[in-house]
Amino acid sequence: MSITYEDVVAAAGRIEGHAHRTPVLTSRTANDELGAEIFFKAENMQRMGAFKFRGAFNALSRFNEEQRKAGVVAFSSGNHAQAIALSAKLLGIPATIIMPEDAPASKIAATRGYGGNVVTYDRYKEDREAIGRKLAEENGMTLIPPYDHADVIAGQGTAAKELFEEVGELDYFFVCLGGGGLLSGSTLATRALSPKCKLYGVEPEAGNDGQQSFRSGSIVHIDTPKTIADGAQTQHLGSLTFPIIQREVEDILTVSDAELVDAMRFFAARMKIVVEPTGCLGFAAARKMKEELRGKRVGVLISGGNVDIERFAALLS
Ligand SMILES: *Cc1c(COP(=O)(O)O)cnc(C)c1O
Repeated sequence: MSITYEDVVAAAGRIEGHAHRTPVLTSRTANDELGAEIFFKAENMQRMGAFKFRGAFNALSRFNEEQRKAGVVAFSSGNHAQAIALSAKLLGIPATIIMPEDAPASKIAATRGYGGNVVTYDRYKEDREAIGRKLAEENGMTLIPPYDHADVIAGQGTAAKELFEEVGELDYFFVCLGGGGLLSGSTLATRALSPKCKLYGVEPEAGNDGQQSFRSGSIVHIDTPKTIADGAQTQHLGSLTFPIIQREVEDILTVSDAELVDAMRFFAARMKIVVEPTGCLGFAAARKMKEELRGKRVGVLISGGNVDIERFAALLS
């Protein structure tokens, strides 16, 4: 079963009126720095603070009566958890969320705040996927994974669809990469709406499993990477996301934690927006490709803005 742009279009119809159509921001300072025209799709301003609401709401709105009654289970280091909890609440579906015990406090609190039943685990010792499957089997709940699911991928693609509809075709597009739901969905929208656009996935240096996979041609697994980009601490791409990425993406790039902090500072100081470290991946990579981007129209997907304000301040100081 292959996922196509038609699935992204269908997802856009389902989330309409529920997800925000986020703004596309521009910055004279960013344009001057890169000598390019940059369009930032601001998913830090999405409901619950990240693009993940799109995929989660799309997936849950396709549940049948039986699935709605038994509920949804999800495992996540943060934003997917909040996205599932909020979507479930809006749709009247019970939600159980498996989260690492060291996840940012704001993310755990927000998930509980949306009515999700939170179960914690040790992310360096236990396998969250196994815990999720066990819960799903024992209770008849439906497991919605954070990225490797057709409805999640299609939903995530709606952000790029909106971007191209608003600004037209682009020469380059930089997208944050964890497990690849956002990048593969963005790829489907890009190929349909801006076929010649060069698409780059961007990972934290410490967690470059996607880059290794892309360059070797098969999915590489790594240990949980230590990086401030907690939304991209995934250990491997998915069996659905990898083939799409492999086929259509120009390359996978990496940036350091220090470069993420520089980008966070830029967003706060120059654009007056709070972006979480993972959300800075795309812009941090674009800044390193100045020569190539000169004179081009460049898209940057800002994926989320959920960071504890104390942690935000500590990272910038
Ligand atoms: C989940 C997440 C990502 C990575 O998305 P994938 O679909 O797993 O590649 C990037 N940024 C933020 C803010 C996220 O929450």
